[in-house]
Amino acid sequence: MAYAYDDQNIFARILRGEIPNSTVMETDHTLAFNDIAPQAPVHVLVIPKGAYVTLDHFAAQASEAEIVDFHRVVARICADLEVAPGMGGAGYRVISNAGGDGVQEVPHYHLHILGGRPLGRMLA
Ligand code: C5P
Repeated sequence: MAYAYDDQNIFARILRGEIPNSTVMETDHTLAFNDIAPQAPVHVLVIPKGAYVTLDHFAAQASEAEIVDFHRVVARICADLEVAPGMGGAGYRVISNAGGDGVQEVPHYHLHILGGRPLGRMLA
């Protein structure tokens, strides 16, 4: 079954410039911005500019250029915001909610990058 992308979702509207955002980084393929309701001192959302609903949709159908660019943006943000452990940061967590059981609110693929405080043990 294929994914149906709702082009009225709020991140699609952000990408079209219809809703403002607090941009952290932007490339040809990727946009990163601060979450409007931060759950930690660092709470950045990273989204592809393409119309993908979930991580599995993106990983299956995006081009290699989009996939590489997306993850390089994640790496640059973790370095710039000084949470990357390999660069002396204290660490971070990435989360991607998908579908109903995953309690995904916005049906445009995004990674949450959380950091800046001890996050506790959490797998579900
Ligand atoms: O649950 P899900 O992973 O879809 O989370 C969507 C996130 O988008 C929430 O953390 C919410 O605060 C954020 N959001 C935002 N800006 C908006 C609307 C939602 O940062 N305009």
